[in-house]
Amino acid sequence: MDKTFSFKVKDELARLKLENLCCVRSELLGLLRAGAVLEVKQSGLQLIFTTESPSVVRRTFLLFKKISSLHIKISREPRRIHDHNLYSVRVDTQPGLKEFLIQLGFLKSDVYSEGTVMPRMECCRRSYLRGFFLGAGSITNPERSYHLELVTGNRRHATHLIRLCRGFDLRARRVERKDRQVVYLKEGDEIATFLTLIGAVTSRLEFENVRVIKGVRNQVNRLVNCETANLNKTVEAACRQLDAIRLLVAKMGLEGLPKPLREVARLRLEQPEATLKELGAQLNPPLGKSGVNHRLRKLEAMAAGLKEKGKKG
Ligand SMILES: [Zn+2]
Repeated sequence: MDKTFSFKVKDELARLKLENLCCVRSELLGLLRAGAVLEVKQSGLQLIFTTESPSVVRRTFLLFKKISSLHIKISREPRRIHDHNLYSVRVDTQPGLKEFLIQLGFLKSDVYSEGTVMPRMECCRRSYLRGFFLGAGSITNPERSYHLELVTGNRRHATHLIRLCRGFDLRARRVERKDRQVVYLKEGDEIATFLTLIGAVTSRLEFENVRVIKGVRNQVNRLVNCETANLNKTVEAACRQLDAIRLLVAKMGLEGLPKPLREVARLRLEQPEATLKELGAQLNPPLGKSGVNHRLRKLEAMAAGLKEKGKKG
């Protein structure tokens, strides 16, 4: 299944260990505020939370179980959205539900108004953001653009989220979309920080890798002749390879190169900015990153050999 980046981040978050009880409460509070619907019936309250992510459903269930003895039902909904299955967590009318929600801060003592409590400790503020992201957050694939958002129908919650982000030096902004409040981050650095804050360490690394590769591409495009100092390692390597290949081609022509090296050399010349993985994928048969690296090193060694000869001659 080709998962979106949002799904990956949520999968990772959903697997984090449940630590301090204070944080479990804060995460559940964030998650419910982000996505739960409270129904007030004659018989009592009912809470329903739906999500497209099976891991988020599991997480929600575990959060509840860790701090309550409420009876929780998980199910797959008959309807689908955006071609994804929809899952729900249901807490039906039962003794203790209202008290639990009040204690959690989701409800004020009055059933009809939402609580306004905000977590204070740093560990809990992070957990709250994690919960909110699990419930109503999304992040675009960094290959496309940098955008992370939290959506809520509640203006006050949006203001709180912005304040929480500011507390971590993140300049979150707000925009209104239909009747919803969208709190978002646009800067790559800030999104990376946010991912770390909420505990998505692996996703942050993946995010950073994409950023580096994109940055390298831009750099190589700007510095085609590789004459500028202070290049980073990846650009430096690409430049070294290009120099070597140009020298070899000048001396012996592409045809003069052994066949396995010829294709790699041609691809590198045509695509100075491509990553090793991308180059390898275009070979027939395809070659992994280290295989491509090995061939490029051979080309460099050949070029170095030619240079040595030239000096002696
Ligand atoms: Zn905490």
